[in-house]
Amino acid sequence: MSSTPSIANIPSPEGATPAMAQWFALKAQEPDALLFFRMGDFYELFFADAEAASMALDISLTARGKHRDEPIPMCGVPVAAAPAYLARLIRRGFRVAVAEQTEAPRKPGESTQKGPLSRAIVRLVTPGTLTEDELLEAGRQNLLLALARPAKRGKTAAPIGAAWIDISTGAFETAVVTATELPELLARLEPAEILADSNLAPPEYAARVAPNVSVPPIDSAKQQMARAFSVAQISVLGDFGDEEIIACAMALDYVRRSQAGNMPRLSRPLRIGEAGTLGLDPATRASLDLLQARDGSSTHTLLDAVDRTVTAAGQRLLAQWIAAPITNSGLIAERQEAWQWLLTVPGLNGSLATALRRTPDLARALGRLSTGRGQPRDLAAIRDALATADIFVSLIRPACDDQTPALIRKLCAGLYGRADAVFERLQSALAEELPPKIEDGGVIAKGFDADLDRYRSLRDDSRKTLTALQGQYAEQYGINNLKIRHHAQLGYIIETSTTHAAKLRDRPELSFRQGTANLARFSTDELAEIDRAILNAGERASVLERQIFNGLVAQAVAHPALPELAELFALTDVLHSAAILAQGGDWCRPQVTDDQAFHLEACRHPVVEAALDRGARFIPNDCALPPAHRVMLLTGPNMAGKSTFLRQTALAVILAQAGLPVPARKAQIGVVDRLFSRVGAADDLARGRSTFMVEMTETAAILRQAGPRSLVVVDEIGRGTATLDGLAIAWATLEALHSQLGARTIFATHFHELGSLSDSMPRLTPYTMAVKEWRGEVVFQHEVRKGAARKSWGVHVAQLAGVPEPVVKRASRLLAALERDQSRAAPSLPLFDANMHEEPAHDPLRDALETLDPDALSPREALQKLYDLKKLALEQNGPLA
Ligand code: ADP
Ligand code: MG
Repeated sequence: MSSTPSIANIPSPEGATPAMAQWFALKAQEPDALLFFRMGDFYELFFADAEAASMALDISLTARGKHRDEPIPMCGVPVAAAPAYLARLIRRGFRVAVAEQTEAPRKPGESTQKGPLSRAIVRLVTPGTLTEDELLEAGRQNLLLALARPAKRGKTAAPIGAAWIDISTGAFETAVVTATELPELLARLEPAEILADSNLAPPEYAARVAPNVSVPPIDSAKQQMARAFSVAQISVLGDFGDEEIIACAMALDYVRRSQAGNMPRLSRPLRIGEAGTLGLDPATRASLDLLQARDGSSTHTLLDAVDRTVTAAGQRLLAQWIAAPITNSGLIAERQEAWQWLLTVPGLNGSLATALRRTPDLARALGRLSTGRGQPRDLAAIRDALATADIFVSLIRPACDDQTPALIRKLCAGLYGRADAVFERLQSALAEELPPKIEDGGVIAKGFDADLDRYRSLRDDSRKTLTALQGQYAEQYGINNLKIRHHAQLGYIIETSTTHAAKLRDRPELSFRQGTANLARFSTDELAEIDRAILNAGERASVLERQIFNGLVAQAVAHPALPELAELFALTDVLHSAAILAQGGDWCRPQVTDDQAFHLEACRHPVVEAALDRGARFIPNDCALPPAHRVMLLTGPNMAGKSTFLRQTALAVILAQAGLPVPARKAQIGVVDRLFSRVGAADDLARGRSTFMVEMTETAAILRQAGPRSLVVVDEIGRGTATLDGLAIAWATLEALHSQLGARTIFATHFHELGSLSDSMPRLTPYTMAVKEWRGEVVFQHEVRKGAARKSWGVHVAQLAGVPEPVVKRASRLLAALERDQSRAAPSLPLFDANMHEEPAHDPLRDALETLDPDALSPREALQKLYDLKKLALEQNGPLA
């Protein structure tokens, strides 16, 4: 299935003019892309391309000439404004092939060869192959993902090879997953573009699948990979499965095609695998707003709440840590120790921030240089990055000793003197003031290359010679207003007014070239000579400057240490960000252990807390799920803070296992292998499933996958169906979680009937959200307490929400009537029989017991109480058996 917005058929090329024939030939190379056809200062689009683009970009559609007697639809965008238009087309799901003139425009009279200028596609712009700053989000990866399943096995059970590339930084990673694990990988990577058979990618990703991608056979895939990394045997690169190699080859091929045959620098593929990362299925990610909120924004997200990074590269790495928390407690501790150490060195954080602010985006600069789109500022970025590497080392190293954490020592070693040769060369090669483009000239500093200096001074000295010559001629011929000017066709000439021209006409050394009513132009051999010299020197200087620039680019791109340095800069920024967060004391270093402990003290929801109105205080809550009480049943009315509590607990796990600080006073977390969060499932209308169906599918996933090391936080299971249905399903699910799966669980529900189940489930503890009733109004205290809710307060919430008074009053009366009916009918319902206790709405016996303090009673008072209680029991429940 093609995701490219449909481009209707293009007419047959027969009978096309030479220029249009060229268009047809290029269009045939990339039929699924809009063709940007360079003509002078515009990219022109024709036929159906023009129709689609004019609509998508809201630009006017015109016509240009005729093809087979029909006018040719055309629209165009100025070359200078192309990036903005490209960005809009890419966002709308188009792919764009850019065809440039590959021959310099001919000068008038120079046109020896007939026909249009030659053109070629120099770039295929697609969502997954962007390198332009204008088209990329600075703080996010932009991934192209290839998926492959070897044809010969063909069974759905066969593993799927996945390979993903961020060509803006050269990152290249792979994994092997099963079909059921695939949605999880997709949710984690959020690829911009997917290369796969359409039946491999789930339907919701259909719009990102690139059209017409061929899957190579394994042998040619191997060859292609070996060629791309210049190795004889791909085993040198690592131990990859066939399906991974095919996916790699698909991705490599597409990248090469998008760059018109030029392979950018990519790091060697690194197998990531799913082992070692915290399992987070798509529903869990969707409910937690990790990197992106449900409204599509990036503001109310976990990333936004914890992000104190200074650089875009740091933000990209932090996003990756949060998207893929780990399960190895040793590695987690390594990250924690590193940022904690930064806090122990006085003043270090401040100076690191200053240095980070001056660190350019090395990875993206390298990406642009290696795709041939590098500009002088990208080389400057490398120079400046290398300079800050030294600053980092000079800041960190003096504080190091043998107690210094491993990651910090790795940082120092990795940043120290790794590319001194590149640095020194760039330092002396680049001019102080750099122009935006290499074509503008003046990129290479004076004194770097003797030949370049010679051509430049020849060029510039000739200009001085001309000025001198002008004065000399004026004097010689006695004409004050004589000028030496440059003329497009004649080159340098003498120009005078016609009144003076007569004086010059007879001079043998001057030849008359042109005259108008007011002006006369003459040339001399001397001027022609200078003209040639200037032209030569200028041309040579710019050719040589380009050569030197290309040499510097090649040297930088080939240097193996630079990508690694880019990663270390990002790491420094992330560690610094974590340290800043922990600095204030509101965030702690969690203790991450290999047992099944779980204890959060005074934990908060970082996003809700940040979003609270000024003056409102976020109420911290504890959460204890020790093995003996690993199931928490949370009841409470709507708006009391149940969902917030569930999410904050899940977020604490994600942060802890990402190696980051946690918003709590103290935290101890036994490593979680899979986290399931079902909080506020959204309607999935796009896939034609009702809320209840979605809810049950997600519940099924938990019951099939959760294990004793998992954490499950579920909200309002069974709310999508009729009350009794819902209650029954919630009950059965809770039982399974408690007794069969053994997962640490928080189960929030508005079915307060479930509160009485703790008798039959020993590891279940009921909790409830504290609610106060004050002058007939309900006040939510957002506090989690032991116990079960007695009431759902729905009518109060309705009142709070502004439902008109008469309706609220009527609802109160109806509720009272319904409650009377239900308490009469309840005993006959199978749900409430046998050992399943329902709590009566009012229980005087229990109230009496609760107020009783045995230690405070004298023996006589105790005896009296016993009589009272027995009487109460008789009144309430009839004679005792
Ligand atoms: P529930 O799931 O019980 O209906 P929510 O978790 O959606 O309740 O919380 C409702 C609102 O209450 C939140 O939007 C937030 O503004 C506020 N809230 C929740 N928990 C807290 C808390 N611990 N401290 C302060 N305000 C809170
Ligand atoms: Mg809720």
